[in-house]
Amino acid sequence: MLTVEEALAQILSRALPLGTERVDVYAAPGRVLAEPIVSRREIPPWPNSSMDGYAVRAADTRAVPVTLVVVDCVAAGTLPSRRVGPGEAVRIFTGAPVPDGVDAVIPQEDVEAEGDHVRITRAVEPGAFIRPRGEDVRVGDRVLEPGRTLGPAEVGLLATLGHVPVLVYRRPRVAILSTGNELADLGTEPAPGQIPNTNTYSLMTQVLEAGAEPINLGVTPDRLEAIEERIGWGMSADVFISSAGVSVGELDLVRQALTRCGAELHLWQVSMRPGKPITFGTLDRRLVFGLPGNPVSAMVTFELFVRPALLAMAGLRNVDRPRIRARALDPIANPGHRRGYLRVTLARDGDEYGARLTGEQGSAILRSMVEADGLAVVPGDTVIAKGESVEVIILKQLK
Ligand code: AMP
Ligand code: MG
Repeated sequence: MLTVEEALAQILSRALPLGTERVDVYAAPGRVLAEPIVSRREIPPWPNSSMDGYAVRAADTRAVPVTLVVVDCVAAGTLPSRRVGPGEAVRIFTGAPVPDGVDAVIPQEDVEAEGDHVRITRAVEPGAFIRPRGEDVRVGDRVLEPGRTLGPAEVGLLATLGHVPVLVYRRPRVAILSTGNELADLGTEPAPGQIPNTNTYSLMTQVLEAGAEPINLGVTPDRLEAIEERIGWGMSADVFISSAGVSVGELDLVRQALTRCGAELHLWQVSMRPGKPITFGTLDRRLVFGLPGNPVSAMVTFELFVRPALLAMAGLRNVDRPRIRARALDPIANPGHRRGYLRVTLARDGDEYGARLTGEQGSAILRSMVEADGLAVVPGDTVIAKGESVEVIILKQLK
């Protein structure tokens, strides 16, 4: 049986970035940059004042006190009307261009102004309170590399540089199919013998959280032709995900259906708990995943295998969730040979985090996942004793 790392390597070797598209500034947040951004602008474009005050020649303030004549007034958005000579000063406001001839600004709190004269009592250094041209960005600076998610600062920088519309990677479209004779989809009250369809909706949310676009293919019974038909519906997507029907029972038909639709299956069964039966393949250029049916198994296998693949297809360089080491607040046991991905809450404890199981860890206990801040990675046949440290994959923003 494959290890999680071997399976992930197989998947990532086939998860190649999709095409690119140009989007405007409103559509840019959260997208992944697909081009290097090289500045065509100098920011700031000219030396400007960082204070409201008076622009002066620093040399004029060497012998203080001194009184200068105020010959001009420049506000942000206007230009100086003249060059400034010795003995002269200019009223200036934050963000206004510094006139030629002066080399320092004195904040207005530090001077005594009267009529068109200003009295200065303290010497200033050249450059004081002036933001030089190009202080932030120079023409030709490579300010952003492809493969990076566009957050608030990046989008602000793109706007500053006039670099919108911007080239980003296309978001993966992900078709989701739930299989099982027992499933009643949303909108139908489960009849006796039926259970509500969970996986479509948790998986759709995981797809959205990974920055991709879910397409709901609904629910199909465990019949080969029915599953094949729905797989066909999913062919407009970049990725196909099904849940359930990938185990060894007579009604586990997903792998056969995928193969009959032309998919080449590259792996089946990974040594992990929850979620041993998982299949992965390719169908033309699409990735196809058959995830296990139990709701926690479906979510955990999505987390470990599908999410990194979607991020890689979306052009991200780093597809890994952060991991920390936390201290077990109670024993954390993983009986059985397969590596465990156990759901834990994390609580801050001084400089470190304490981890505690979210209760019963059955693969059908969705609430173990609801409460989870992370997945504790525990080797097979191991008990992490209280106080020992354990590796945890962070799923949520920590409190
Ligand atoms: P299977 O892999 O088909 O044997 O399914 C494993 C378990 O997951 C069974 O108990 C199914 O009833 C359950 N299951 C399968 N699909 C879903 C779903 N979409 N929502 C909730 N439970 C499911
Ligand atoms: Mg089934």
